[in-house]
Amino acid sequence: MSKRDYYDVLGVSRTAEVTEIKTAYRKLAIKFHPDKNPGDKEAEDKFKEAAEAYEILSNSEKRARYDQFGHAGNSASGYGGGGMNMDDIFSQFGDIFGGGNPFESFFGGGGGRSGGRRVQRGTNLRIKVKLTLEEIAKGVEKKVKVNKQVVCHTCSGTGAKDKSSYHTCNTCGGSGSVRRVTNTILGQMQTTSTCPTCNGEGVEITAKCTTCKGDGLERGEETISINIPAGVSEGMQLSMSGKGNAAPRGGIPGDLIILVEEVPHESLKRDGINVIYDLYINFADAALGTSVEIPTIDGKAKIKIDPGTQGGKILRLKGKGLPEVNSYHKGDQLVYVNVWTPKTVSKEEKELLEKLKGSANFKPQPGKSEKSFFERIKEYFE
Ligand SMILES: [Zn+2]
Ligand SMILES: [Zn+2]
Repeated sequence: MSKRDYYDVLGVSRTAEVTEIKTAYRKLAIKFHPDKNPGDKEAEDKFKEAAEAYEILSNSEKRARYDQFGHAGNSASGYGGGGMNMDDIFSQFGDIFGGGNPFESFFGGGGGRSGGRRVQRGTNLRIKVKLTLEEIAKGVEKKVKVNKQVVCHTCSGTGAKDKSSYHTCNTCGGSGSVRRVTNTILGQMQTTSTCPTCNGEGVEITAKCTTCKGDGLERGEETISINIPAGVSEGMQLSMSGKGNAAPRGGIPGDLIILVEEVPHESLKRDGINVIYDLYINFADAALGTSVEIPTIDGKAKIKIDPGTQGGKILRLKGKGLPEVNSYHKGDQLVYVNVWTPKTVSKEEKELLEKLKGSANFKPQPGKSEKSFFERIKEYFE
């Protein structure tokens, strides 16, 4: 279908001012409004065509593109192809009709277009999930029993006592909305509003379910299996759509919001995607070198301590940290080497230390190979 010129559609000149364009569109929108022309496909097409022309010509950038390139100029924004959808068109109206929008009742005052049945939504449910560092490292499936509002088992969520007390609303015929003709400044208009009998739900209940007293809900438990991705951290929120509280009378259930809590590890500390371990070795091992077993997230690991290791050295175990969420990138484990100084010494130990104290090798002689505190810190953050 080839498109008509937007200026022709609105019946304005190529030099028309925005106010003129607005007035022209307002007239067409009222003339071809679907609620004024029910079932008239041609009117609907004209309504859409006018809305699209207005959308482009009322925007100086889009209008300039259109003037220069024709319909192709705005094809990237979707108007070159399939045109606008009804929701887009209706959302324009606040702009062109201002506060005194005569179409207000068509759209239920901003809550979307009325006409469809009103569907209630269940509330969101919040839970906390405690995770160990090991679980965070690999990701985990947690089965959690939650206490929540569930669909009433007696009435299957309908809220009715039995089949005979549940039927389609007579006032609106089940559509949830009623139409009436009103006089407005723009002439006689047919307006749609929420059905007062069923409150827009489309069904009428003559006798309520005694278990739930009509709302179709009861307290219950559900065991929900939650897939926690690897790399999450304290305070992060995950959400599972539709796993929250059930909605009254068969509506859409709310979401389950899962708040992540970290259980502190007994010997490892988390720092972003890195894991820190504070290692203490004795002075003799630092001088002579040794190999020690340390904890990591994947279990124990053996590391080598070189002879002559100074306290404050940081060893880096590549890839032994935590993964980033939704990424293959992994952090490291950093081993901070502390040389333990005895807090008390026996008489014999004291004598030995006194002897060693005078030895030339025991005099601190920091050389070029010894990294300064600041260099170590810098290296750590790299
Ligand atoms: Zn009704
Ligand atoms: Zn019930």
